[in-house]
Amino acid sequence: MEIGFIGLGNMGAPMARNLAAAGHKVHGYDVTGIEVEHVTPATTAAEAAATRAVVVTMLPDGEVLRRVAGEIIPFMDDDAVFLDCSTVDVATARAVAEDAVTAGLRAVDAPVSGGIAGAEAGTLTFMAGGTEDGYAAALPLFEIMGGRSVHCGPSGAGQAAKICNNLILGVSMIGVCEAFALAEKLELDPQKVFDVVSTSSGSCWAVNSYCPVPGVGPKSPADNDYQPGFAAELMLKDLRLAQAAAAQVHAETPLGAQAVRLYQAFVEDQGRGRDFSAMLPWLAGRDRTG
Ligand code: NAD
Repeated sequence: MEIGFIGLGNMGAPMARNLAAAGHKVHGYDVTGIEVEHVTPATTAAEAAATRAVVVTMLPDGEVLRRVAGEIIPFMDDDAVFLDCSTVDVATARAVAEDAVTAGLRAVDAPVSGGIAGAEAGTLTFMAGGTEDGYAAALPLFEIMGGRSVHCGPSGAGQAAKICNNLILGVSMIGVCEAFALAEKLELDPQKVFDVVSTSSGSCWAVNSYCPVPGVGPKSPADNDYQPGFAAELMLKDLRLAQAAAAQVHAETPLGAQAVRLYQAFVEDQGRGRDFSAMLPWLAGRDRTG
């Protein structure tokens, strides 16, 4: 298949490489001129997209996606699939899909979970929004780039599912970090806390699979000086997207709002470039204010 791939950053480069390794002819474009092994470089986004059966975008945010969509949609073939894998706001995902469909294309929003390691290993999870037909056309590519995909509903549903998941993750990681910071001040051994919580009603992914305490639980960024993993500023971005979506539909999300405030303070103070689980040493180093 002839595939256009736009946005060859930390995630896009390995995803494009995996598509090429599976035998597809991939035409890649990134504004910084990044080139990827076995991917044919294009000089513009429109050149990467023109006449391809599928065009994948993996871009930093909704504003850039809207711009790139404006550049490529007029050059794409009728019935081609516009497959956006970036994490963007639901409103942008829906607006871009509407423009694509109006121009005769099939649009799928399919943000991912699994991070850079998942992109490299081809084990990402895709959460997709769009028509059955669009999803079916994208499925063979999901199977190359990922281990699992879920068709969540119409356009925007993939982004909606992604921010709901990350709302849970952001809030639960803060709760887990608070508990371990408190346990330390109560002079509990963190290994004992893990042994109890990971098999009790407090168990969750943030404890059992991604424990924020160095040397405790399975290997996680905490064991690598909190190198990301999943950077704190990306968690902040996703929590903000959840708040924007909640505001649009008048949903009450008080812990989500507080999670934004905490991740913002953490990123501004010492979190930039660190894994989001480094919330633990930050909280542990602070004194109670109230
Ligand atoms: P990145 O910043 O490394 O990559 C984005 C790329 O887009 C950059 O190389 C940039 O030069 C390029 N770009 C920007 N404007 C462009 C334009 N106009 N035309 C062409 N290329 C352009 O980011 P990333 O880590 O690869 O993340 C990409 C998306 O995936 C984001 O939406 C992010 O939220 C999401 N995501 C990231 C992770 C992760 O762990 N990094 C995990 C899940 C989802």
